[in-house]
Amino acid sequence: MTRTRFAPSPTGFVHIGGLRTALYNYLFAKKHGGTFILRIEDTDRTRFVEGATENLISALNWAGLVPDEGPETGGDFGPYFQSERTDLYKKYAQELLDNGHAYIAFDTPEEMDEKRKSTGNPHLKYDASIRNEMRNSLNLDNAQVQELIDAETPHVIRLKIPEDRTFTFKDIIRGEVSFKSEQVDDQVLIKSDGFPTYHLANVVDDHLMEITHVIRGEEWLSSVPKHIYLYECFGWQAPEMAHLPLILNPDKSKMSKRDIQSLDDLPQGKVDPDVASYVKKGFEPETIINYIALLGWNPGEGDERQIFTKEELVNEFSLERVNKAAAIFDLRKLEWVNGEHITQRDTAELVEQVKPQLAEKGLDYGSEEYLFKVVDLLKSRMLFVDQFAVLGEYFFKDPEHYDEKTVKKRWKDDSVKLILEFVDEIVKLDVFDKESIEKALHVVTERNEAGTGRLIHPVRLAVSGMGVGPGLYDMLVVLGKETVTRRLKAGATAITR
Ligand code: GLU
Repeated sequence: MTRTRFAPSPTGFVHIGGLRTALYNYLFAKKHGGTFILRIEDTDRTRFVEGATENLISALNWAGLVPDEGPETGGDFGPYFQSERTDLYKKYAQELLDNGHAYIAFDTPEEMDEKRKSTGNPHLKYDASIRNEMRNSLNLDNAQVQELIDAETPHVIRLKIPEDRTFTFKDIIRGEVSFKSEQVDDQVLIKSDGFPTYHLANVVDDHLMEITHVIRGEEWLSSVPKHIYLYECFGWQAPEMAHLPLILNPDKSKMSKRDIQSLDDLPQGKVDPDVASYVKKGFEPETIINYIALLGWNPGEGDERQIFTKEELVNEFSLERVNKAAAIFDLRKLEWVNGEHITQRDTAELVEQVKPQLAEKGLDYGSEEYLFKVVDLLKSRMLFVDQFAVLGEYFFKDPEHYDEKTVKKRWKDDSVKLILEFVDEIVKLDVFDKESIEKALHVVTERNEAGTGRLIHPVRLAVSGMGVGPGLYDMLVVLGKETVTRRLKAGATAITR
Protein backbone atom coordinates (compact mmCIF):
# COMPACT_ATOMS: atom_id res chain seq x y z
CA MET A 1 0.00 0.00 0.00
CA THR A 2 1.47 3.34 -1.07
CA ARG A 3 1.78 5.88 1.73
CA THR A 4 3.18 9.35 1.10
CA ARG A 5 3.49 12.31 3.40
CA PHE A 6 3.78 16.07 3.24
CA ALA A 7 5.87 17.03 6.24
CA PRO A 8 6.13 20.80 6.46
CA SER A 9 7.68 22.77 9.27
CA PRO A 10 5.27 25.54 10.24
CA THR A 11 7.78 28.36 10.13
CA GLY A 12 5.82 31.01 8.26
CA PHE A 13 4.00 31.35 4.97
CA VAL A 14 3.21 28.44 2.63
CA HIS A 15 5.76 28.42 -0.18
CA ILE A 16 4.68 27.63 -3.72
CA GLY A 17 7.40 24.95 -3.80
CA GLY A 18 5.95 23.44 -0.62
CA LEU A 19 2.52 23.29 -2.17
CA ARG A 20 4.00 21.54 -5.19
CA THR A 21 5.64 18.99 -2.88
CA ALA A 22 2.26 18.42 -1.25
CA LEU A 23 0.64 18.08 -4.68
CA TYR A 24 3.12 15.51 -5.99
CA ASN A 25 2.74 13.48 -2.80
CA TYR A 26 -1.02 13.69 -3.16
CA LEU A 27 -1.01 12.77 -6.85
CA PHE A 28 1.36 9.87 -6.38
CA ALA A 29 -0.66 8.46 -3.48
CA LYS A 30 -3.98 8.82 -5.31
CA LYS A 31 -2.64 7.39 -8.54
CA HIS A 32 -1.63 4.24 -6.66
CA GLY A 33 -4.76 4.05 -4.55
CA GLY A 34 -2.69 4.96 -1.51
CA THR A 35 -2.81 7.30 1.45
CA PHE A 36 -1.67 10.92 1.62
CA ILE A 37 -0.54 12.01 5.07
CA LEU A 38 0.05 15.41 6.59
CA ARG A 39 2.64 15.48 9.36
CA ILE A 40 3.57 18.73 11.06
CA GLU A 41 7.30 18.86 11.77
CA ASP A 42 7.27 21.36 14.58
CA THR A 43 10.18 20.28 16.76
CA ASP A 44 12.27 23.35 16.11
CA ARG A 45 10.82 25.54 18.82
CA THR A 46 13.03 28.50 17.91
CA ARG A 47 11.40 28.73 14.49
CA PHE A 48 7.83 28.22 15.61
CA VAL A 49 5.40 30.76 14.17
CA GLU A 50 1.94 31.26 15.62
CA GLY A 51 -0.81 30.43 13.10
CA ALA A 52 1.55 28.79 10.60
CA THR A 53 0.00 25.33 11.00
CA GLU A 54 -3.50 26.72 10.49
CA ASN A 55 -2.23 28.48 7.34
CA LEU A 56 -0.82 25.25 6.02
CA ILE A 57 -3.98 23.31 6.62
CA SER A 58 -6.16 25.97 5.06
CA ALA A 59 -3.87 26.23 2.01
CA LEU A 60 -4.11 22.47 1.49
CA ASN A 61 -7.87 22.54 1.89
CA TRP A 62 -8.14 25.47 -0.51
CA ALA A 63 -6.11 23.59 -3.10
CA GLY A 64 -8.21 20.46 -2.59
CA LEU A 65 -5.26 18.43 -1.33
CA VAL A 66 -7.06 17.11 1.69
CA PRO A 67 -4.94 14.62 3.65
CA ASP A 68 -6.29 11.15 4.34
CA GLU A 69 -4.46 11.22 7.66
CA GLY A 70 -3.27 14.23 9.57
CA PRO A 71 -3.87 16.63 12.44
CA GLU A 72 -7.44 17.41 11.32
CA THR A 73 -8.50 14.06 9.90
CA GLY A 74 -6.77 11.89 12.48
CA GLY A 75 -5.66 8.36 11.62
CA ASP A 76 -4.07 5.24 13.07
CA PHE A 77 -0.53 6.56 13.03
CA GLY A 78 -0.92 9.75 15.08
CA PRO A 79 -0.25 12.04 16.70
CA TYR A 80 0.60 13.92 13.52
CA PHE A 81 2.36 16.79 15.30
CA GLN A 82 5.97 15.87 15.98
CA SER A 83 5.94 18.06 19.08
CA GLU A 84 3.53 15.50 20.57
CA ARG A 85 5.84 12.58 19.84
CA THR A 86 8.99 13.62 21.68
CA ASP A 87 9.04 10.61 24.01
CA LEU A 88 9.22 8.35 21.00
CA TYR A 89 12.27 10.13 19.64
CA LYS A 90 13.99 9.94 23.00
CA LYS A 91 13.36 6.23 23.13
CA TYR A 92 14.89 5.69 19.70
CA ALA A 93 17.84 7.95 20.49
CA GLN A 94 18.46 5.84 23.59
CA GLU A 95 18.43 2.74 21.43
CA LEU A 96 21.14 4.27 19.25
CA LEU A 97 23.18 5.18 22.33
CA ASP A 98 22.82 1.65 23.66
CA ASN A 99 23.98 0.14 20.39
CA GLY A 100 26.93 2.48 20.07
CA HIS A 101 25.56 4.27 16.99
CA ALA A 102 25.24 7.53 18.85
CA TYR A 103 27.00 9.33 21.66
CA ILE A 104 26.45 12.17 24.09
CA ALA A 105 28.38 15.38 23.45
CA PHE A 106 28.82 18.18 25.99
CA ASP A 107 30.73 20.62 23.80
CA THR A 108 29.15 24.03 23.70
CA PRO A 109 28.85 26.00 20.47
CA GLU A 110 31.59 28.27 21.90
CA GLU A 111 33.91 25.31 22.34
CA MET A 112 33.25 24.27 18.78
CA ASP A 113 34.10 27.83 17.66
CA GLU A 114 37.33 27.64 19.64
CA LYS A 115 38.18 24.42 17.88
CA ARG A 116 37.56 26.01 14.51
CA LYS A 117 39.83 28.87 15.44
CA SER A 118 42.61 26.69 16.82
CA THR A 119 42.60 24.42 13.78
CA GLY A 120 42.31 27.35 11.41
CA ASN A 121 39.45 25.58 9.64
CA PRO A 122 36.26 27.65 9.68
CA HIS A 123 34.32 24.78 8.07
CA LEU A 124 35.42 22.20 10.61
CA LYS A 125 32.66 19.65 11.14
CA TYR A 126 31.98 17.63 14.26
CA ASP A 127 32.91 14.25 12.77
CA ALA A 128 35.41 11.40 12.89
CA SER A 129 38.30 13.79 12.39
CA ILE A 130 37.76 15.49 15.75
CA ARG A 131 35.29 13.47 17.76
CA ASN A 132 38.10 11.82 19.72
CA GLU A 133 39.35 15.18 20.93
CA MET A 134 36.02 16.49 22.14
CA ARG A 135 34.08 16.38 25.39
CA ASN A 136 31.79 13.46 24.68
CA SER A 137 30.82 10.03 25.90
CA LEU A 138 33.31 8.42 23.53
CA ASN A 139 36.19 9.98 25.42
CA LEU A 140 34.86 10.34 28.96
CA ASP A 141 34.19 7.38 31.18
CA ASN A 142 30.70 6.48 32.34
CA ALA A 143 31.10 8.08 35.76
CA GLN A 144 32.24 11.38 34.23
CA VAL A 145 29.35 11.34 31.80
CA GLN A 146 26.88 10.64 34.57
CA GLU A 147 28.36 13.41 36.70
CA LEU A 148 27.97 15.95 33.89
CA ILE A 149 24.42 14.84 33.25
CA ASP A 150 23.57 15.02 36.97
CA ALA A 151 24.99 18.52 37.06
CA GLU A 152 22.55 19.37 34.26
CA THR A 153 25.35 20.20 31.86
CA PRO A 154 23.78 20.99 28.48
CA HIS A 155 24.36 18.16 26.06
CA VAL A 156 23.23 16.76 22.75
CA ILE A 157 23.08 13.29 21.24
CA ARG A 158 25.04 12.85 18.02
CA LEU A 159 24.99 10.19 15.36
CA LYS A 160 28.32 8.42 15.01
CA ILE A 161 28.93 8.34 11.28
CA PRO A 162 31.32 5.50 10.44
CA GLU A 163 34.56 6.25 8.62
CA ASP A 164 35.40 5.18 5.08
CA ARG A 165 31.88 4.53 4.03
CA THR A 166 30.08 5.49 0.88
CA PHE A 167 26.37 6.01 1.29
CA THR A 168 24.63 5.19 -1.95
CA PHE A 169 20.95 5.24 -2.77
CA LYS A 170 18.77 5.35 -5.81
CA ASP A 171 16.67 8.45 -6.17
CA ILE A 172 13.63 7.93 -8.41
CA ILE A 173 14.28 11.22 -10.19
CA ARG A 174 18.05 11.57 -9.99
CA GLY A 175 19.18 7.97 -10.26
CA GLU A 176 22.12 6.76 -8.19
CA VAL A 177 23.44 9.29 -5.69
CA SER A 178 26.49 8.75 -3.45
CA PHE A 179 28.02 10.55 -0.49
CA LYS A 180 31.28 9.74 1.27
CA SER A 181 31.54 9.69 5.07
CA GLU A 182 33.80 12.73 5.01
CA GLN A 183 30.93 14.77 3.55
CA VAL A 184 28.68 13.92 6.47
CA ASP A 185 28.96 15.31 10.00
CA ASP A 186 27.99 13.60 13.24
CA GLN A 187 24.48 14.98 13.07
CA VAL A 188 22.85 16.13 16.30
CA LEU A 189 19.83 13.91 16.85
CA ILE A 190 18.58 15.27 20.16
CA LYS A 191 19.23 18.91 20.98
CA SER A 192 20.08 20.30 24.39
CA ASP A 193 16.43 21.31 24.85
CA GLY A 194 15.49 17.63 24.60
CA PHE A 195 13.76 18.05 21.26
CA PRO A 196 14.87 15.94 18.33
CA THR A 197 16.33 17.47 15.21
CA TYR A 198 14.52 17.11 11.92
CA HIS A 199 16.71 14.15 10.90
CA LEU A 200 15.88 11.82 13.76
CA ALA A 201 12.21 12.72 13.96
CA ASN A 202 11.80 12.46 10.21
CA VAL A 203 13.32 9.00 9.96
CA VAL A 204 11.52 7.64 13.02
CA ASP A 205 8.18 8.94 11.81
CA ASP A 206 8.59 7.89 8.20
CA HIS A 207 9.23 4.41 9.53
CA LEU A 208 6.48 4.34 12.15
CA MET A 209 3.97 5.89 9.79
CA GLU A 210 4.90 3.26 7.21
CA ILE A 211 5.76 5.80 4.54
CA THR A 212 6.65 4.01 1.31
CA HIS A 213 7.76 7.00 -0.76
CA VAL A 214 9.48 10.17 0.41
CA ILE A 215 8.86 12.93 -2.12
CA ARG A 216 10.37 16.28 -1.19
CA GLY A 217 12.48 19.22 -2.36
CA GLU A 218 15.99 18.87 -3.67
CA GLU A 219 17.34 20.85 -0.70
CA TRP A 220 16.98 17.67 1.37
CA LEU A 221 19.14 15.52 -0.88
CA SER A 222 22.28 16.12 1.17
CA SER A 223 20.48 14.87 4.28
CA VAL A 224 19.83 11.47 2.75
CA PRO A 225 23.15 9.84 3.78
CA LYS A 226 22.33 10.59 7.42
CA HIS A 227 18.86 9.23 6.96
CA ILE A 228 19.85 6.01 5.23
CA TYR A 229 22.49 5.42 7.87
CA LEU A 230 19.85 5.89 10.57
CA TYR A 231 17.62 3.35 8.85
CA GLU A 232 20.58 0.99 8.78
CA CYS A 233 21.29 1.50 12.50
CA PHE A 234 17.69 0.77 13.40
CA GLY A 235 17.57 -2.20 11.06
CA TRP A 236 14.68 -0.66 9.13
CA GLN A 237 14.10 -0.55 5.42
CA ALA A 238 14.38 2.96 4.00
CA PRO A 239 11.47 4.23 1.89
CA GLU A 240 11.89 5.02 -1.78
CA MET A 241 12.97 8.58 -2.35
CA ALA A 242 12.36 11.27 -4.95
CA HIS A 243 13.91 14.73 -4.73
CA LEU A 244 12.10 17.41 -6.68
CA PRO A 245 13.81 20.17 -8.67
CA LEU A 246 13.74 23.75 -7.47
CA ILE A 247 11.28 26.37 -8.68
CA LEU A 248 13.07 29.60 -9.61
CA ASN A 249 12.25 33.22 -10.34
CA PRO A 250 12.16 34.29 -14.01
CA ASP A 251 15.68 35.70 -13.49
CA LYS A 252 16.73 32.25 -12.24
CA SER A 253 17.30 33.39 -8.68
CA LYS A 254 15.74 31.59 -5.73
CA MET A 255 12.16 32.64 -4.98
CA SER A 256 12.10 34.78 -1.90
CA LYS A 257 9.51 36.82 -0.09
CA ARG A 258 11.91 39.70 0.39
CA ASP A 259 11.10 42.86 -1.61
CA ILE A 260 7.72 41.50 -2.67
CA GLN A 261 4.75 43.74 -1.94
CA SER A 262 2.04 42.43 -4.21
CA LEU A 263 1.50 40.37 -7.33
CA ASP A 264 0.58 43.53 -9.20
CA ASP A 265 3.86 45.22 -8.42
CA LEU A 266 6.63 42.65 -8.63
CA PRO A 267 10.30 43.59 -8.84
CA GLN A 268 11.82 42.83 -12.27
CA GLY A 269 12.54 39.12 -12.69
CA LYS A 270 10.91 38.06 -9.42
CA VAL A 271 7.73 36.29 -8.44
CA ASP A 272 5.98 35.84 -5.13
CA PRO A 273 6.60 32.48 -3.41
CA ASP A 274 3.67 32.91 -1.00
CA VAL A 275 0.63 30.79 -1.85
CA ALA A 276 -1.61 33.20 0.08
CA SER A 277 -0.87 35.95 -2.45
CA TYR A 278 -2.29 33.83 -5.26
CA VAL A 279 -5.36 32.97 -3.26
CA LYS A 280 -5.90 36.65 -2.48
CA LYS A 281 -5.44 37.67 -6.11
CA GLY A 282 -8.34 35.40 -7.07
CA PHE A 283 -6.62 32.51 -8.82
CA GLU A 284 -8.74 29.38 -9.07
CA PRO A 285 -7.48 26.48 -6.93
CA GLU A 286 -7.57 24.25 -10.06
CA THR A 287 -5.29 26.74 -11.81
CA ILE A 288 -2.63 26.61 -9.14
CA ILE A 289 -2.76 22.81 -9.02
CA ASN A 290 -2.58 22.57 -12.80
CA TYR A 291 0.23 25.07 -13.16
CA ILE A 292 2.47 23.88 -10.34
CA ALA A 293 2.02 20.28 -11.51
CA LEU A 294 3.69 21.38 -14.73
CA LEU A 295 6.55 23.06 -12.87
CA GLY A 296 8.80 20.06 -12.85
CA TRP A 297 6.58 17.43 -14.46
CA ASN A 298 5.32 16.89 -18.01
CA PRO A 299 2.75 14.48 -19.40
CA GLY A 300 5.19 12.96 -21.90
CA GLU A 301 7.36 13.82 -24.85
CA GLY A 302 5.48 15.57 -27.63
CA ASP A 303 2.40 15.92 -25.41
CA GLU A 304 1.64 19.62 -25.56
CA ARG A 305 -1.36 19.68 -23.25
CA GLN A 306 -1.26 22.47 -20.70
CA ILE A 307 -4.66 22.24 -19.09
CA PHE A 308 -5.42 19.43 -16.67
CA THR A 309 -8.07 18.79 -14.09
CA LYS A 310 -7.01 17.27 -10.82
CA GLU A 311 -8.47 13.91 -11.86
CA GLU A 312 -6.45 13.98 -15.07
CA LEU A 313 -3.32 14.74 -13.11
CA VAL A 314 -4.00 11.85 -10.77
CA ASN A 315 -4.33 9.53 -13.75
CA GLU A 316 -1.29 10.75 -15.59
CA PHE A 317 1.20 11.66 -12.90
CA SER A 318 4.39 9.70 -12.55
CA LEU A 319 7.64 10.44 -10.74
CA GLU A 320 9.59 9.15 -13.73
CA ARG A 321 8.45 12.18 -15.70
CA VAL A 322 9.61 14.70 -13.12
CA ASN A 323 12.54 16.71 -14.46
CA LYS A 324 15.91 17.05 -12.82
CA ALA A 325 16.38 20.63 -13.95
CA ALA A 326 14.91 23.58 -12.07
CA ALA A 327 11.63 25.04 -13.30
CA ILE A 328 10.94 28.74 -13.88
CA PHE A 329 7.77 30.29 -12.51
CA ASP A 330 5.93 32.30 -15.16
CA LEU A 331 3.15 34.52 -13.84
CA ARG A 332 1.75 35.36 -17.30
CA LYS A 333 1.36 31.70 -18.06
CA LEU A 334 -0.33 31.17 -14.72
CA GLU A 335 -2.85 33.88 -15.63
CA TRP A 336 -3.49 32.25 -18.96
CA VAL A 337 -4.09 28.91 -17.25
CA ASN A 338 -6.54 30.69 -14.95
CA GLY A 339 -8.50 31.98 -17.94
CA GLU A 340 -8.64 28.47 -19.38
CA HIS A 341 -9.99 27.06 -16.13
CA ILE A 342 -12.64 29.76 -15.86
CA THR A 343 -13.74 28.90 -19.41
CA GLN A 344 -14.18 25.29 -18.32
CA ARG A 345 -16.16 26.12 -15.22
CA ASP A 346 -19.82 25.45 -14.74
CA THR A 347 -21.74 28.58 -15.75
CA ALA A 348 -24.42 28.27 -13.09
CA GLU A 349 -21.76 28.20 -10.40
CA LEU A 350 -20.04 31.25 -11.86
CA VAL A 351 -23.37 33.08 -11.95
CA GLU A 352 -23.60 32.81 -8.16
CA GLN A 353 -20.02 33.93 -7.78
CA VAL A 354 -20.41 37.12 -9.83
CA LYS A 355 -23.64 38.34 -8.22
CA PRO A 356 -21.91 40.18 -5.36
CA GLN A 357 -19.75 42.08 -7.85
CA LEU A 358 -22.84 43.31 -9.66
CA ALA A 359 -24.49 44.27 -6.39
CA GLU A 360 -21.41 46.19 -5.38
CA LYS A 361 -21.45 48.17 -8.62
CA GLY A 362 -25.18 48.71 -8.32
CA LEU A 363 -25.83 46.81 -11.55
CA ASP A 364 -29.24 45.21 -11.96
CA TYR A 365 -29.01 41.98 -13.89
CA GLY A 366 -32.71 41.55 -14.56
CA SER A 367 -33.45 37.86 -14.81
CA GLU A 368 -31.42 34.80 -13.83
CA GLU A 369 -31.76 33.57 -17.37
CA TYR A 370 -30.23 36.74 -18.77
CA LEU A 371 -27.32 36.72 -16.31
CA PHE A 372 -26.66 33.08 -17.18
CA LYS A 373 -26.38 33.98 -20.87
CA VAL A 374 -24.03 36.87 -20.19
CA VAL A 375 -21.76 34.79 -17.97
CA ASP A 376 -21.75 31.99 -20.51
CA LEU A 377 -20.70 34.43 -23.20
CA LEU A 378 -18.02 36.18 -21.18
CA LYS A 379 -16.47 33.35 -19.20
CA SER A 380 -13.95 32.60 -21.91
CA ARG A 381 -12.78 36.23 -21.83
CA MET A 382 -11.97 36.54 -18.14
CA LEU A 383 -8.54 35.92 -16.64
CA PHE A 384 -10.04 36.38 -13.17
CA VAL A 385 -13.63 36.00 -12.09
CA ASP A 386 -13.52 39.41 -10.43
CA GLN A 387 -13.12 41.03 -13.86
CA PHE A 388 -16.68 40.12 -14.74
CA ALA A 389 -18.46 43.29 -13.63
CA VAL A 390 -15.98 45.48 -15.48
CA LEU A 391 -15.86 43.39 -18.65
CA GLY A 392 -19.59 42.92 -18.70
CA GLU A 393 -20.91 46.21 -17.37
CA TYR A 394 -22.56 47.16 -20.68
CA PHE A 395 -24.78 44.09 -20.50
CA PHE A 396 -26.51 45.70 -17.54
CA LYS A 397 -26.35 49.37 -18.40
CA ASP A 398 -26.38 51.42 -21.60
CA PRO A 399 -22.93 52.82 -22.37
CA GLU A 400 -22.33 56.36 -21.15
CA HIS A 401 -18.91 56.67 -22.76
CA TYR A 402 -17.47 55.41 -25.99
CA ASP A 403 -13.87 54.25 -26.06
CA GLU A 404 -11.95 57.14 -27.55
CA LYS A 405 -9.34 55.15 -29.37
CA THR A 406 -11.96 53.04 -31.05
CA VAL A 407 -13.96 56.11 -32.00
CA LYS A 408 -10.89 57.61 -33.66
CA LYS A 409 -10.04 54.45 -35.48
CA ARG A 410 -13.44 53.04 -36.41
CA TRP A 411 -15.99 55.85 -36.60
CA LYS A 412 -16.09 57.05 -40.20
CA ASP A 413 -18.10 59.63 -42.08
CA ASP A 414 -20.66 57.04 -43.16
CA SER A 415 -20.97 55.30 -39.76
CA VAL A 416 -24.17 57.10 -38.73
CA LYS A 417 -25.82 56.38 -42.06
CA LEU A 418 -24.86 52.67 -41.97
CA ILE A 419 -25.98 52.27 -38.39
CA LEU A 420 -29.37 53.83 -39.00
CA GLU A 421 -29.90 51.63 -42.04
CA PHE A 422 -28.95 48.64 -39.92
CA VAL A 423 -31.52 49.69 -37.32
CA ASP A 424 -34.15 49.76 -40.06
CA GLU A 425 -33.19 46.22 -41.08
CA ILE A 426 -33.24 44.70 -37.61
CA VAL A 427 -36.53 46.20 -36.52
CA LYS A 428 -38.05 44.20 -39.35
CA LEU A 429 -36.70 40.91 -37.92
CA ASP A 430 -39.15 38.46 -36.40
CA VAL A 431 -36.43 36.21 -35.12
CA PHE A 432 -33.48 37.96 -33.54
CA ASP A 433 -30.78 35.30 -33.89
CA LYS A 434 -27.21 35.16 -35.13
CA GLU A 435 -28.03 34.25 -38.72
CA SER A 436 -30.72 36.85 -39.24
CA ILE A 437 -28.63 39.62 -37.65
CA GLU A 438 -25.65 38.70 -39.78
CA LYS A 439 -27.83 38.69 -42.89
CA ALA A 440 -29.26 42.10 -42.01
CA LEU A 441 -25.77 43.49 -41.57
CA HIS A 442 -24.70 42.17 -44.96
CA VAL A 443 -27.74 43.66 -46.64
CA VAL A 444 -26.64 47.09 -45.42
CA THR A 445 -22.94 46.78 -46.24
CA GLU A 446 -23.58 45.34 -49.69
CA ARG A 447 -26.10 48.01 -50.53
CA ASN A 448 -23.48 50.60 -49.60
CA GLU A 449 -20.64 48.73 -51.25
CA ALA A 450 -18.77 48.72 -47.94
CA GLY A 451 -16.76 45.96 -46.26
CA THR A 452 -18.46 44.31 -43.27
CA GLY A 453 -15.85 45.79 -40.91
CA ARG A 454 -17.21 49.18 -41.80
CA LEU A 455 -20.38 48.34 -39.92
CA ILE A 456 -19.26 45.68 -37.46
CA HIS A 457 -16.92 47.98 -35.54
CA PRO A 458 -19.26 50.97 -35.25
CA VAL A 459 -22.08 48.66 -34.15
CA ARG A 460 -19.94 47.15 -31.39
CA LEU A 461 -18.87 50.62 -30.31
CA ALA A 462 -22.41 52.00 -30.23
CA VAL A 463 -23.83 49.01 -28.42
CA SER A 464 -21.08 48.35 -25.87
CA GLY A 465 -19.00 51.52 -25.79
CA MET A 466 -15.95 49.31 -26.28
CA GLY A 467 -13.63 48.29 -29.06
CA VAL A 468 -13.29 44.63 -28.08
CA GLY A 469 -15.55 41.97 -26.66
CA PRO A 470 -17.16 38.65 -27.46
CA GLY A 471 -18.32 37.75 -30.98
CA LEU A 472 -20.54 40.59 -32.16
CA TYR A 473 -23.58 38.56 -33.25
CA ASP A 474 -23.56 36.50 -30.04
CA MET A 475 -23.39 39.69 -28.05
CA LEU A 476 -26.30 41.29 -29.92
CA VAL A 477 -28.45 38.19 -29.46
CA VAL A 478 -27.87 38.22 -25.71
CA LEU A 479 -28.58 41.96 -25.44
CA GLY A 480 -31.82 41.52 -27.37
CA LYS A 481 -33.45 43.47 -30.15
CA GLU A 482 -34.92 46.25 -28.06
CA THR A 483 -31.69 47.13 -26.27
CA VAL A 484 -29.65 46.87 -29.44
CA THR A 485 -31.92 49.20 -31.40
CA ARG A 486 -32.07 51.71 -28.57
CA ARG A 487 -28.30 51.79 -28.19
CA LEU A 488 -27.62 51.99 -31.92
CA LYS A 489 -29.88 55.02 -32.21
CA ALA A 490 -28.33 56.64 -29.16
CA GLY A 491 -24.82 55.94 -30.46
CA ALA A 492 -25.61 57.40 -33.85
CA THR A 493 -26.39 60.69 -32.15
CA ALA A 494 -23.82 60.63 -29.36
CA ILE A 495 -20.70 59.40 -31.07
CA THR A 496 -18.70 62.07 -32.84
CA ARG A 497 -15.12 62.10 -33.88
N1 GLU B 1 10.11 19.44 7.64
C1 GLU B 1 10.81 19.39 6.39
C2 GLU B 1 10.40 20.65 5.62
O1 GLU B 1 10.04 21.58 6.22
C3 GLU B 1 10.42 18.14 5.66
C4 GLU B 1 11.39 17.64 4.68
C5 GLU B 1 10.98 16.24 4.27
O2 GLU B 1 9.96 16.13 3.58
O3 GLU B 1 11.65 15.30 4.67
O4 GLU B 1 10.43 20.74 4.43
